[in-house]
Amino acid sequence: MARTFLLTACAAALAAVAFAVTPALRRHAPPAASSSTGAGSSSDSGGRAPLLDAKTAAPAPAFAAGNWINSEPLTLDSLRGRVVVVDFWTFACFNCRNTLPALERLNATYSAKGLTVVGVHTPELERERVFENVRREVASLGVGYPVLTDNDYATWNAYGVEAWPTVFILDRAGRVRYKHVGEGAYDEQERAVKALLAEDYKGDADKTQTNGATNTNTSGGVKMNEKAAESHEKIVKSDEEWRKELTPEQFHVMREKGTERAFTGAYYANHETGEYLCAACGYELFASGAKFDSGTGWPSFYEPAAADHVETVRDTSYGMVRTEVRCARCGAHLGHVFPDGPRPTGLRYCINSVSLKFVKKDQ
Ligand SMILES: [Zn+2]
Repeated sequence: MARTFLLTACAAALAAVAFAVTPALRRHAPPAASSSTGAGSSSDSGGRAPLLDAKTAAPAPAFAAGNWINSEPLTLDSLRGRVVVVDFWTFACFNCRNTLPALERLNATYSAKGLTVVGVHTPELERERVFENVRREVASLGVGYPVLTDNDYATWNAYGVEAWPTVFILDRAGRVRYKHVGEGAYDEQERAVKALLAEDYKGDADKTQTNGATNTNTSGGVKMNEKAAESHEKIVKSDEEWRKELTPEQFHVMREKGTERAFTGAYYANHETGEYLCAACGYELFASGAKFDSGTGWPSFYEPAAADHVETVRDTSYGMVRTEVRCARCGAHLGHVFPDGPRPTGLRYCINSVSLKFVKKDQ
């Protein structure tokens, strides 16, 4: 493929909706039915996200070798069970830069619910091939999700990409279910993510779609939520009320986003079996089965007890881009989540002991 075309495709202002991309791009795009679910069908005006049928969707190509930023090297195998957004971009492409806030928002909103966003940085210009430049731009643009450098176009070619930016969304079985070229269609992409997160996933079998809001269905099968079904209601209290209920240290961490000192908390070395509840409201947040020794001095978990029991919020304090983790019921600050955890999620929920109350399970 001629490099001049690629340059044109990026530099030309790709229109906000897929069907309005430049004629040159459309000419090069593969047939819509086989690979472009977003293209041609989206006016982004509500409704359902156009997803490729799970039965005919192709398995996503593996990530080729490259340098990873914000993460240990990820593989699609290690991400099995998660919905994955793969965004092909390069830092000097302004169309790509325009899409980053929407991707960050997806990451912040849905990472705790089973989404991983991966940026594949495929360079167009010489200076975009220099790793230090990519790392600096990733930091200054506030990209907090994992980014893979693709200097030799191996991942780009494997996915058959033809223009920057191009977004793919993979279902939890690792199949390509959605593609969009150019800026825009952000609402559509969010709907695609939500629909794919709501799809039933047991191993790699095709299961019927369980559409609708995640976890509101109590008629069997949603085992993670049975326990909390009675008490999802938000708890809102004033600082004065919290001050009466919490210790000064709890108040500082949970209401003022403080951090306990490493290796000082009650639970970083706790290996007992049981549940970790919110120290402020008692909501079940983490289970001992997902706890691992991170060596950081804070209790670390690779997933919450239930996806909707924690909320994540982008946090740019102290000159860092991090993802804050809160109790979804009372809003208490718990800690942060980082994309460098172990399998199966690749996430590390780094939580203050003081925000937790451990309840040992009788065996
Ligand atoms: Zn709480």
